[in-house]
Amino acid sequence: PRPAAKASLRILLAGPRGFCAGVDRAIRVVEEALRRFGAPVYVRHEIVHNRTVVEQLERQGAVFVDELTEVPEDAQVVFSAHGVPKSVPAEAQRRGLTYLDATCPLVSKVHREAERHFAGGGPDSHHILMIGHAGHPEVEGTMGQLPPGAMTLVQSVDEAATVQPADPGRLAFITQTTLSVDDTAEIVATLRARFPAIQGPKREDICYATTNRQAAVKTIAPESDLVLVIGSPNSSNSQRLREVAERAGAPRAILLPRADQLDWSVLEGVRTLGITAGASAPEVLVEQLLDRLRERYELAIEEKSVTTEDVVFKLPAPLAC
Ligand code: SF4
Repeated sequence: PRPAAKASLRILLAGPRGFCAGVDRAIRVVEEALRRFGAPVYVRHEIVHNRTVVEQLERQGAVFVDELTEVPEDAQVVFSAHGVPKSVPAEAQRRGLTYLDATCPLVSKVHREAERHFAGGGPDSHHILMIGHAGHPEVEGTMGQLPPGAMTLVQSVDEAATVQPADPGRLAFITQTTLSVDDTAEIVATLRARFPAIQGPKREDICYATTNRQAAVKTIAPESDLVLVIGSPNSSNSQRLREVAERAGAPRAILLPRADQLDWSVLEGVRTLGITAGASAPEVLVEQLLDRLRERYELAIEEKSVTTEDVVFKLPAPLAC
């Protein structure tokens, strides 16, 4: 008997999706360090929040650690794209470790803003409200740029409505780069209403990649019965994409770390499937998902792109030449 015809499935691919320039650069830093210095190269924290990327680099000789105490003397260390508190390079220097900093330049920019507002703790110093999520390494890195007490974390509109800074006339805000654009706008509006003198960036510190991926998923969500977001559960920007998809009208949005973790039952009744990927998820994971879907469906793929990106960051100085 002839095999039954496959059911058809319309796929809407969000563009841009997947890797951003900061993630691409961080991976190149580790690869280049391995090429120049040989294995092992120690990397403090997951270089980017994606298991596939981490495992690929491990196979090339990268060793991932949580803290510098796990790094032996004379080793080469790389700091992750999320940024590190000032205490980390200080500790590396104290121990005589050679280190490379893969912090995304757009995160470093926020670090510099924080230092500008703090102004050395002198008479022009402003207390800083850091809008972000507790426990995320980027937040730990950014808050660790200044002495304890110089910043207060604000995680929600409720917290923005109740935070009690000592001097509301000397106040500034900065943000994590991977937040929800809409939620952050609400938090900032709440702060501006309460503290008209608050200083901050013209637009939030949310980066171009986060902004573009959220705009793109918004265009596919209303037409999709389900949106799959390729990304890891610890990836902030992937989690935000999932939330944005549901708010923009997708009946359901699910985070999917890898194609082989797809549970076919989620596709029951789905005629149009939206697909996007977080900034730390390589495109190969999207291709693997499409291959897996082809096992059961005849795919009709449409790509909906809101913009094109051509951002490329140079490698840090010691590797740039
Ligand atoms: Fe940099 Fe944005 Fe990518 Fe984070 S998501 S690494 S801030 S470009």
